[in-house]
Amino acid sequence: MIALVKQTATDEQLGQLISWIEGRGFKTHVSEGDNETIVGIIGDTTQIDPFLLESMSIVERVQRVSEPFKKANRKFHPDDTIVDCGHGVLLGGGNFQVMAGPCSVEGDNLLRIAKRAKQAGATMLRGGAYKPRTSPYAYQGMGEKGLDLLMDAGAQLNMPVVTEVMDPRDVELFVSKGIDVMQIGARNAQNFNLLKEVGKTNIPVLLKRGMSQTIDELLMGAEYIMSEGNQNVILCERGIRTFETRTRNTFDVNAIPVLKHLSHLPVVGDPSHSTGYTRYVRAAAYAATAAGADGLQIEVHDCPSEAWSDGAQALTPDQFADAMARIRLIREAITAPVDGE
Ligand code: PEP
Ligand code: MN
Repeated sequence: MIALVKQTATDEQLGQLISWIEGRGFKTHVSEGDNETIVGIIGDTTQIDPFLLESMSIVERVQRVSEPFKKANRKFHPDDTIVDCGHGVLLGGGNFQVMAGPCSVEGDNLLRIAKRAKQAGATMLRGGAYKPRTSPYAYQGMGEKGLDLLMDAGAQLNMPVVTEVMDPRDVELFVSKGIDVMQIGARNAQNFNLLKEVGKTNIPVLLKRGMSQTIDELLMGAEYIMSEGNQNVILCERGIRTFETRTRNTFDVNAIPVLKHLSHLPVVGDPSHSTGYTRYVRAAAYAATAAGADGLQIEVHDCPSEAWSDGAQALTPDQFADAMARIRLIREAITAPVDGE
């Protein structure tokens, strides 16, 4: 972190600033230029509130020169993290996985849908038992019974199960049921108590990007989980809220290579919530794959018009199978060596 000091500052004021910083256990490095004086602050500057420093009368501006996320940072962990999702399914570091299934667990149709998704190439089963709905009057999910249906289907088809946990008080239940991957939804992306709670387990966490969250804030969310001990974090771009109204959200495809550059954690794209309409889901899935995502999460339902939630964005099993065939081709294209390599 560096602090730019105003030209009007006296030596005495500069000395006071330096002793304030050093009094908090940091080292300083002062460089005096013709037009400005820069105080470099050395140490774990995540402990310093830049706004507090900037509020001091002689400080012109404060700038971070290193990212505040450490455990999620590729600088300190150059190799890709590979997350073991259970049932022999590895995600990241060249292992590409597709999680598919209905938005909500609705009952026995789950197994039917999961079978079709698996046949088409899905390697993980998704489904919500606890649903974060915008309206309190909308369907809220089957709860514990939904978790049991997911675990049954996962066991029968030998697929790891991904499902959303909304409440820190439910984490223990998810652990006791043997849920393979806990999803933190967009609406809970900055529910820090929930992040800390899943961080105390060693179960992989799929952390979705909040709808108004910057990439750095998403990485700080991952940092919350990892700082509690759980290093098995998968990041998920699921679209952000913009001025555009033709789609449910705006798929930030850029975030995929940016996250992979900044972090060693695997990155998954969710074209379903990103677009909100079945007719656009496949195009967004292809874009995410081509952008280098380590996996995809896609909502699939065998009767979208009857789905209890998000039917408008569900792919039918046939549409999903078509998508999977093309996704495999895109994967081949972007991982194949080209001349000169
Ligand atoms: C979901 O996966 O069904 C879901 C609610 O996702 P998001 O949190 O990204 O909206
Ligand atoms: Mn959904």
